Amino acid sequence: SIHNMIRTQMVNAEFAVATTADNFAAMFSAMDDDYMRERAADVKDISERVIRVLSGANSGALNSNEPVIILADDLAPSETVQLDKDKVLGFVTVNGSTNSHTAILARTMNIPAIIQADIELDEVYDGKMAIVDGHTGTVYIEPDEETVRVLTEKREKDLNERKLLQELKGKENVTLDGQKVNVYANIGSVADVANALKQDAHGIGLFRSEFVYLEKEDDYPSEEEQFQIYRAAAENMAGKKVIIRTLDIGADKQASYFNLAHEENPALGYRAIRICLDRIDVFKAQLRALFRASAFGNISIMFPMIISKEEVIRIKEIVEEVKEELRTKGIPFKEDVELGIMIETPAAAMVSDELAPLVDFFSVGTNDLTQYTLAIDRQNAMLEKFYNPHHKALLRLIKIAADNAHKHGAWIGICGELAADTRMTETFLAMGIDELSVSPTFVLGLRKKIRETNVSEIREQRLAELMN
Ligand code: PEP
Ligand code: MG
Repeated sequence: SIHNMIRTQMVNAEFAVATTADNFAAMFSAMDDDYMRERAADVKDISERVIRVLSGANSGALNSNEPVIILADDLAPSETVQLDKDKVLGFVTVNGSTNSHTAILARTMNIPAIIQADIELDEVYDGKMAIVDGHTGTVYIEPDEETVRVLTEKREKDLNERKLLQELKGKENVTLDGQKVNVYANIGSVADVANALKQDAHGIGLFRSEFVYLEKEDDYPSEEEQFQIYRAAAENMAGKKVIIRTLDIGADKQASYFNLAHEENPALGYRAIRICLDRIDVFKAQLRALFRASAFGNISIMFPMIISKEEVIRIKEIVEEVKEELRTKGIPFKEDVELGIMIETPAAAMVSDELAPLVDFFSVGTNDLTQYTLAIDRQNAMLEKFYNPHHKALLRLIKIAADNAHKHGAWIGICGELAADTRMTETFLAMGIDELSVSPTFVLGLRKKIRETNVSEIREQRLAELMN
């Protein structure tokens, strides 16, 4: 079929492989036998590899059979999400920033990563033994025996500390004076659910659904594909809360098939809910998948990059249309799925009194809230030293949102990276934050910190620090 297409239709090899693969995959998918149906995925997998080779993409480590450390100038979130997590021991990039989605993904995947490494990219490193020390940000290439010994010991100590934290599994997230807070996990794919459960997260506080889209190379994930993914997440969490954020594409998270125009200031640009409210078909397909999946577990839906109540009102109209469609078709879904919004723009925090009555919950995205409050591009490595998520301006905005949420009967969580910063836990508890959602790796460490805190002793002081 591939040869024929090239000869008769004069198409290039990649196109011929892709079309043939689609046809064969469709053929397998339509078969009655379960086993044969699943072979469709094999056809796709093989053809994608062939296309990668044909197009000259250097897929190197991505196809490696052995565990590797990846050394690169930078990694896009779409590349990182496609890495085979079992094969990647660590990664080192010359560029990148701590708050980029690549770094966030590394934390979620529990992979040691160094960004802005002071190292020349050179092929001579290929195939050499190396060690990545994520604590000090050092990469050792061809280390001597003594270095290997010292770092192996360090790794064992690290693993031991983690083992000690395991004793906190099954325990509540409660302070010494009885204040409870939910500790949930942030995930980027349904595969991360296993890690969230392993670390005893009591729910998923942020499922970044855009990674479902980034994993696709050339077309939107279908409603059915999405439904299967959200349903699996909900079922695997077995009744625990799973907060799925709708598509937050744009800025650093780009998928070619969206055909987004080049922008001068992508972070201040066409992204997230702005795209969804324009491309209603894409938005509705995701909402249908989410509501259908709601029948299989405890799903909540959250919307990113909100700046006004008009957006929330429009979103709720669209949600109602989707629910009505499902009702008409007799498709089961949960009627009272909780709806929430991200507070990640200063605008949302400042009008949180108007937003809170419209939703069930807020979730503070401190990564973007820091970026927009301090006017610091979170992707810009040069600005890293100015990126201060402890800035009083940011903390005051969180406090405003927390007070407004509680005044109107909504709950409030934090799902940005700051939620895992145990230097801030006392302040968040003092504000009455109801939920903290962190990379699975940090769940038990945060639980430890909460259980050691006496909020009544520190509340006044922590709140006074915000004001003075
Ligand atoms: C945030 O902005 O804090 C957040 C959680 O969303 P993301 O990092 O995906 O932008
Ligand atoms: Mg964000």
